[in-house]
Amino acid sequence: PSYTKDDIRKMAKEEEVQFLRLMFTDLYGTIKNVEVPISQLDKVLDNKMMFDGSSIDGFVRIEESDMWLYPDLSTWLIFPWGSEHGKVARLICEVYNADRTPFYGDPRNNLIRILDEMKEMGFTDFNIGPEPEFFLFKLDPETGKPTTHLNDKGSYFDLAPVDLGENCRRDIVLELEKLGFDVEASHHEVAPGQHEVDFKYADALHACDNIQTFKLVVKTVARKYGLHATFMPKPLDRINGSGMHLNMSLFDKNGNTFFDENGEEQLSDEARYFLGGLLKHARNYTAVMNPTVNSYKRLVPGYEAPVYVAWSGHNRSPLIRVPIARGLSTRVELRSVDPSANPYLAVAAVLAAGLDGLRNKIEPPKPVDRNIYVMDEEERKASGIEDLPSTLHNALKALKTDDVIKNAMGPHLYNNFIEAKRLEWEAYRQEVSQWERDQYLELY
Ligand code: ADP
Ligand code: GLU
Ligand code: MG
Ligand code: MG
Repeated sequence: PSYTKDDIRKMAKEEEVQFLRLMFTDLYGTIKNVEVPISQLDKVLDNKMMFDGSSIDGFVRIEESDMWLYPDLSTWLIFPWGSEHGKVARLICEVYNADRTPFYGDPRNNLIRILDEMKEMGFTDFNIGPEPEFFLFKLDPETGKPTTHLNDKGSYFDLAPVDLGENCRRDIVLELEKLGFDVEASHHEVAPGQHEVDFKYADALHACDNIQTFKLVVKTVARKYGLHATFMPKPLDRINGSGMHLNMSLFDKNGNTFFDENGEEQLSDEARYFLGGLLKHARNYTAVMNPTVNSYKRLVPGYEAPVYVAWSGHNRSPLIRVPIARGLSTRVELRSVDPSANPYLAVAAVLAAGLDGLRNKIEPPKPVDRNIYVMDEEERKASGIEDLPSTLHNALKALKTDDVIKNAMGPHLYNNFIEAKRLEWEAYRQEVSQWERDQYLELY
């Protein structure tokens, strides 16, 4: 909703809000916040709040640490779980440099920059419908720390007797609705303890804000049930991991530009070229969609996660699916993304890839309507189907070759991302795992 400063002053007063959280997102997708008492509201609304950016990962050097927070008034909301000290509201902010220019190390600002490029091409909205999946694990009652003990044995669309996980998920949905989310569906996922909640698509910026709010709500409600909610992509061996499929479409003033009644399969040129761009850059933006070492343990055959670069209108195994819905719902679904991705960075990267497809009229390859997992390497090769990168290391190598994706991140985010992820990979590759000891200790 679009609020004025006066609307916000009024709502704060009527609801007796006591504290205000000013939120933004760091390089890793983690929410950061500065909390101020409501007495500071006017200062906040006038863009006069400063904070020390040097304490945030991937932000700035010590000598240039003062930064401004500019609240986006449309993100105002009051958390439904008050504290004994009164109600808490939040505003998501854009980070500005001391000289009052936008700071492009802020992933949200960076997304706004790419959305501006899109608007120059005549589009009004990049719509994103995310499908985040997560696991609920028990908290250790003694230590309060998360375990990997599941609390249910349910499976996809299960109708098992209502359990703790089920109740917790319903509570999550109710809290989300109180916050204005339009929840379209929620269900148990394939793995035990795994759940999915789908909410209605929104323009890219607000969809990313929604993802951040969603994670906070899920984690907060889970705690009330003695559970830990995790968005880690692959928490358990040999069990489905958690994805965060992104459904996307470009709208202009006349509606969904991906729909064309007279086009082949009722898809427009825009949809085709966007798809072409998404596929062309797919290997290279993988590091952004799947930014952790653990992400690549999900992208293996056999667990409904994509492994090959291909698209289809019919089956769910490829990287990109074009669901059969048409009209306003005409969209492409990217299935590689996992919930450890920074949503602002991920969305900026896929938008840039799609726009590159539009600018350069990139034709997508033919759809692959058979199960790719039963094709052998030669058949895949003959059909021109490439593999997604198999490790974070390979994904980073691919990212470094792609100027479109680099530009979509901007130099500040790109350099910090590459360096942080290189260090993560180096740390990981020096660890000797239990699997290796089990395999080799006695054999050699
Ligand atoms: P699936 O078929 O993969 O299970 P779901 O029905 O679970 O898909 O989720 C569909 C998602 O796509 C929802 O978030 C929905 O709001 C979103 N969606 C619908 N139409 C569009 C559109 N035009 N652009 C982007 N997302 C859309
Ligand atoms: N959990 C699967 C994944 O890792 C997706 C299952 C589904 O199709 O919803 O992507
Ligand atoms: Mg799912
Ligand atoms: Mg899906």
